[in-house]
Amino acid sequence: MGVLFKKELSEQQLNELFQSDEKCFEFLAGVKWENGFTCRKCGNNNYCQGKTPSSRRCTKCKAEESAAAGTIFHNCKFPIHKAFFIAYNVCKGKEEISTYEFARRLSLRQMTCWNFRTKIHQAIDKMDSLTENERLSIQKILR
Ligand SMILES: [Zn+2]
Repeated sequence: MGVLFKKELSEQQLNELFQSDEKCFEFLAGVKWENGFTCRKCGNNNYCQGKTPSSRRCTKCKAEESAAAGTIFHNCKFPIHKAFFIAYNVCKGKEEISTYEFARRLSLRQMTCWNFRTKIHQAIDKMDSLTENERLSIQKILR
């Protein structure tokens, strides 16, 4: 999560991410394999395209890894571009958006948004790379 939005993204990049699942997977793959691919099962560095968008398949042991595996977007029950919108706004948003507002804007159930936001907060709690300011703004949202 920390890595995810560490980079400043342009308005245009964000708009693309918030509209397209494929762009989100592409983005995740870029962050995840920034320093090259290493198979989690056998350590091999060679891969070919997997079955799902931006997933990678080890050429040696054939294990496939999705771009979302190991991130809060793994096993997300709703479109990942909507999850991106929530995650980005919770982490970086200048204004506070309620889960009701997320639900309205994204046509999701409020409970779905609430659950996902909780997941984000748990992920954030686990990170120790946060600055004091980031911590404070997150605590503000939690209240
Ligand atoms: Zn492998």
